[in-house]
Amino acid sequence: MHPAAIYLDHAATTALRPEVREKMEPVLAVPSNPSSLHRWGRRASVALEEARVVVAGALDVPPGEIHFVRGGTEASNLAILGRAGAIRARGEGVRVVVSAVEHRAVLDTLAGVEAMGGFVSILPVDPRCHPLGEALEKVLATSPAVLSLMAANNETGALPPVTEVGTSCREAGVVFHTDAVQAPGHIPLPPLARSADLISLSGHKIGGPASTGVLRVRGGIELAPLLFGGGQERGLRPGTQDVAGAVGMAEALRLAEDEREENQRHMSGLARLLEAELRAALPGLRVHGEEGLRSPHIVNVGIPGIDPELLLSGLDLEGVAASRGSACSSGSTRPSHVLEATLGAPEARRSAPLRISFGRETTSHEVARAARVIVEVARRLGAYLEVPA
Ligand code: PLP
Repeated sequence: MHPAAIYLDHAATTALRPEVREKMEPVLAVPSNPSSLHRWGRRASVALEEARVVVAGALDVPPGEIHFVRGGTEASNLAILGRAGAIRARGEGVRVVVSAVEHRAVLDTLAGVEAMGGFVSILPVDPRCHPLGEALEKVLATSPAVLSLMAANNETGALPPVTEVGTSCREAGVVFHTDAVQAPGHIPLPPLARSADLISLSGHKIGGPASTGVLRVRGGIELAPLLFGGGQERGLRPGTQDVAGAVGMAEALRLAEDEREENQRHMSGLARLLEAELRAALPGLRVHGEEGLRSPHIVNVGIPGIDPELLLSGLDLEGVAASRGSACSSGSTRPSHVLEATLGAPEARRSAPLRISFGRETTSHEVARAARVIVEVARRLGAYLEVPA
């Protein structure tokens, strides 16, 4: 490890918070199958239901609407394929609509919808990640099984208009799903839960354990399960629950919601500092998503005429951990689908995207040093020699 390594990839994952670990340890130390009828089972069941109440409290919804699943990907797969399956089981035609800037956890479920004979539509967006009005009206008129629009984009931090789109869906009688994996600690959860019927959350983005997640399902909405077994989680996600994971996820979510305002202030300061330093030193730099509202925990910049892989490995050698965009697609050489959808393909290809994402513990000293390293590495790679003035 570099002596003074700086981790600026919190949108990819975060370390387990000590407070979360402390809550999980007593559960991890004992056998914990909440379906068992003996005292260990009863204790596990109480811990699981308490965790459900904590998550429900953070969202301000009834605990019965909270389902523990194995991560954000599973939550969104269940929301979309589960909704499509429920409509197909009624013998009706299935259409699913998702925005063009969704995470792969949503976009790639479309292959599954098509495999079951359903139709799919991709909703185009403008540079702010707002769905285009006419396109939205058109797809709503097709009475889709579900429409999905994320709450905070994982590549640029853009905040799509979930409240407005939620209202349009409600008026059209369409079930609305939001992938809110990047939202906790950055945008308030109760208004989100009033707008969206189905909400995906993940533990590891907020200092909780990896492979923990939640799907909120508003009462009365039918979903078909994707797995079959012991009937846990009201039959929607069978399999023995990870009680320690649920307890950890609940604590992480509670802390994220409690600390949100302080967190937003802290991260806005860091984002302003980073953007100012980079803009001053690197003319031609583009801040992606700046046309609209953004969550300050993600800063995504485009550095023209530079190889994104060389930039990232140069930063890594200097001890700065960042990413190209989504961690899952960082091995790919394709331009980001989010930048293509918001900027157009030529512009998306013009510059090397660099995603810097902050955590609670990130300091302004670290951000200032990271900015200096980014500038040095970009200059060393010769980017600015080739950019016309
Ligand atoms: N949705 C978004 C917006 C994300 O950023 C991620 C994380 O990469 C996911 C879904 C997937 O969540 P998980 O890693 O918990 O499966």
